[in-house]
Amino acid sequence: MERWVSEVNAGWGLTVKTTQQLCDIQTPYQHIEIFETVNLGHLMMLDGIVQLSSYDEFAYHEMMANLPFYSCAHLPEKALVIGGGDGGVLRELGKHPELKSIDICEIDGEVIKAAREFLPETACGYDDERVHIHVGDGSLFVQEHPGSYDIIIVDSTDPAGPGEPLFGEAFYGNLKKALKPGGVIGTQAESYFLLPEIAQRVVKFAGTFFKSYGFAQIHVPTYPTGVIGCCVASDEGDVREPKRFPDEAMQKKLRYYTPEVHRGAFMLPGFARELFEK
Ligand code: SAM
Repeated sequence: MERWVSEVNAGWGLTVKTTQQLCDIQTPYQHIEIFETVNLGHLMMLDGIVQLSSYDEFAYHEMMANLPFYSCAHLPEKALVIGGGDGGVLRELGKHPELKSIDICEIDGEVIKAAREFLPETACGYDDERVHIHVGDGSLFVQEHPGSYDIIIVDSTDPAGPGEPLFGEAFYGNLKKALKPGGVIGTQAESYFLLPEIAQRVVKFAGTFFKSYGFAQIHVPTYPTGVIGCCVASDEGDVREPKRFPDEAMQKKLRYYTPEVHRGAFMLPGFARELFEK
């Protein structure tokens, strides 16, 4: 049966026409819903907030994985994903044979199960034998793994609910401690249109702990305002500049990320640049 579903956030909404609800589960952490849509393929919502649609998830997941991967001054071997239960960032990291091990720490095992059942095109990221699943709070996991990772990607929900500790200053300090020397973080940094204070706060924390940092914009039409940020930070080199380039075979596997897009993503509209310079 056709039904319009809406994400309503910060006083306005984004509405999508669906044909069928595939999943409707309340977990101890959140309400998981997955829909079949008329034009966007599958749509996953957590607590009424869009997490991904098949239509444009490649844009977000390619950038979240590859901005840190290609910013890293040395060849990364060990990666950690915090959140990211749908498996999309894992799928993109898995394209890199250089990575020897990919840990994921997702707080809600039911998200992993639901993604594996209803979102096989993103959850295929779990099929890689280098992936090790940890179900728990990512803010605690990083504290327990000092000096361990070349790249850490925080693919979290918004700060309301279980994602709240992932937007705190202490967490950014602990991310830095969990990195190996010269490692890179990439964190979900919200939209400068929709949630400017949160975007600003995250970039400020990155600047507190890292020598090089910046907000990279990613165009994702099914997120309200059509844009979301990845905050990239490291102590080695300039994160705005890719340190390596995808070869021809790798570039063919990518639909959004290119070295030019890497550099360009940090070029922000004037008002957004000002927001992060404050
Ligand atoms: N791309 C998405 C977005 O920004 O809309 C995020 C997708 S992913 C599904 C977000 C995941 O973060 C959820 O599965 C949620 O359970 C997980 N998460 C939230 N808080 C967490 C925490 N403290 N530790 C680990 N995972 C967490």
